[in-house]
Amino acid sequence: MFDVEQQPDLAFSKPVVGPYSSPFGLKRFFNGEPRNPHSGLDIAAPTGTPIQAPAAGKVVLTGDFFFNGNVVYMDHGQGVISMFCHLSEIKVKQGDVLDKNQILGKVGATGRVTGPHLHWSVSLNNVRIDPMLLLPKETQAE
Ligand SMILES: [Zn+2]
Repeated sequence: MFDVEQQPDLAFSKPVVGPYSSPFGLKRFFNGEPRNPHSGLDIAAPTGTPIQAPAAGKVVLTGDFFFNGNVVYMDHGQGVISMFCHLSEIKVKQGDVLDKNQILGKVGATGRVTGPHLHWSVSLNNVRIDPMLLLPKETQAE
């Protein structure tokens, strides 16, 4: 049974099948003014595409937020937190313990977005890291 105190399995799997549409750290501009660099990795996929847990973990929060839309937060252990944004459907609830590859929701376009995609952020002790670093080499080029 997964426990949030355990060491995370850092060999993650790609949570959604689809092309990467916006990399982590991309510098963005709005009306010519710099904004915060992109805090996650975007994967483009049609609304309704299943999102699989990239690693085992516990659902620590779900909600519907203005910018991020329907969101699921997962704790993979030892302060490694995934955030999945813009979901069309949330299939889990707070407190659920998920196996790797278990479906947690579906891709959507909720919140402030222009089209359906998964925005996936990973933070390590509150510092955002590039989720790509946790994915196997063969899925980094897709
Ligand atoms: Zn994004």
